[in-house]
Amino acid sequence: MAYPYIGALKHGGKQGKIQRIVIHATVSPCVRGGARNVAKYFQSSAAGGSAHYVVDPGEIIQCVKDDVVAYHAPPNTGTLGIELCDPQAGSPKRWSNEAHQAMLVLAAKLVRELAAKHDVPLVRVTAAQLRAGKRGICSHVAVSDAFGQSDHGDPEVAGPFPWAKFMQLIKEEDDMPSPKEIYEAVWEQDVMAAPDGSKSNPTWKPSSVLTDVDKKVRALQSQVTGLESELAATNAKLDQVLTLLRASVS
Ligand SMILES: [Zn+2]
Repeated sequence: MAYPYIGALKHGGKQGKIQRIVIHATVSPCVRGGARNVAKYFQSSAAGGSAHYVVDPGEIIQCVKDDVVAYHAPPNTGTLGIELCDPQAGSPKRWSNEAHQAMLVLAAKLVRELAAKHDVPLVRVTAAQLRAGKRGICSHVAVSDAFGQSDHGDPEVAGPFPWAKFMQLIKEEDDMPSPKEIYEAVWEQDVMAAPDGSKSNPTWKPSSVLTDVDKKVRALQSQVTGLESELAATNAKLDQVLTLLRASVS
């Protein structure tokens, strides 16, 4: 998917196969419009680096094309950098507030798309695994620890990043049951008619479904009968009242 593009001033040349997707934090407020502000900062000569994408609670902005090196977490070649708008201050509980949750959902969607596009495994990789050449998704701090070429601790400067939740969001779509799994689940619940010739399926119990429907129909019928007799009784009383009225008028 194409995202609004605000090109960063600083970037390198073409990059080869993508090894990892690196998650950063901007040290700026987690608010709508935050991503554009950071992207505009990346356009200025004051910015020391860049990233491929910046995400806030409302949108994703692209700043460097995927096939171009961005300056975000050295060694940069063969990596994609995603900045999340977060102040890197305050309680780690901020990651579960409404704004952060919305941003994490957007970022997870972006990671899922990028991983699929560049064939990056949907696994979180640690510093030791990065050193061992494992491909996947990681934090800037893991890259710093693995290669010692930067000293940034984001996105875990103020407490842990919610990795378990984030990886779950990334994989959510992958965990959707297949049509076959849904069919089999419904089948086992005995609410779907068996196709012709499949009556030998041991899980198919049409009689119990019919019995259930029959019970409901009978219950409704007895309710109707009850209402009918109530109506007849009311009519009889009405007749009596009318008779009395006529007698008193005449
Ligand atoms: Zn960073």
